Amino acid sequence: MDILHYEDIIAAAAEVGFDLCGVVDAEPMPHPKEQFERWLAEGNQGTLGYLERNVDKRFDPSLLVEGARSVIVCALAYGVPQESANCSEGRRAKIAPYACREDYHTVFRRLLTQLAERLRLNERGIRWRAFTDSAPLAEKSLAERAGIGRRGRNSLIINSRFGSRILLGELVVCAPADRYSTPTAENPCSDCGACVERCPAEAILPEGGIDTRRCIACRTVEPAATPSDESTAGWLFGCDECQACCPCNEAAERRDNQLIATLFNPADLSADYWVEITDEEFAERFGTTPLSRAGAERLREGAKKL
Ligand code: SF4
Ligand code: SF4
Repeated sequence: MDILHYEDIIAAAAEVGFDLCGVVDAEPMPHPKEQFERWLAEGNQGTLGYLERNVDKRFDPSLLVEGARSVIVCALAYGVPQESANCSEGRRAKIAPYACREDYHTVFRRLLTQLAERLRLNERGIRWRAFTDSAPLAEKSLAERAGIGRRGRNSLIINSRFGSRILLGELVVCAPADRYSTPTAENPCSDCGACVERCPAEAILPEGGIDTRRCIACRTVEPAATPSDESTAGWLFGCDECQACCPCNEAAERRDNQLIATLFNPADLSADYWVEITDEEFAERFGTTPLSRAGAERLREGAKKL
């Protein structure tokens, strides 16, 4: 059987432009699965029913891709748009920094395909599939195993160099590698509690994890989120509070990978702008960003409540 060479994978991922890469075997992950099932049993998924489906697949990549032997986990680091003086009047509409750029699903699909090409997987007859937040795959657990980072109290993967502002994607490959990454020994999260204190929705659970029924990021992004009349604390799409306050991000290297460059600065745009935006302008200006998943109407309605 054809074997992937670890060093080749890491070099190819860097050539494609990823900031981080690790490789893990595609074995089942029983411990994270148990934690996830406990989280589900407490009802923290709310109305996000898709989280309840395919739990076995989520923690066993070989059930998702038949014959899977390895998972290549890649990450891109992104920055935060600067404060702007352009929006001097009116209410602000806050948008999470990851959403102010090309949709990461599109970017990862492109880059992971390039990675598969560099590794000549098709020529070698090795089957593969690329994922980013697009299938039941426990990407945070895989990222931890791959040494990308460790899960912080805010439930995000924190990398010791780039902090938590990283996006993840995976190439599931039907061939073993000659060696695999190891998890990082130290968790950058000091358990300082700043994220818990700062979270406007009290969504960070004491025993770890997020209550999606409360979390503003879930409520403003997920189409199937639990309906709620509670405030979004000025957030129109996503929420960055538990990252903005995290000392790991304060100390992190400021990296804004230009493969996923910023397309607009939300600080330039008032809530009134969003209330009045036409479908045409929305499609033209934001059609390639993650905002397109919510659509113009949802943002207009959200902006009225800010
Ligand atoms: S704010 Fe503190 S507790 Fe929260 S993730 Fe960052 S380091 Fe951990
Ligand atoms: S994204 Fe916002 S609402 Fe959700 S846990 Fe973090 S701070 Fe709380």
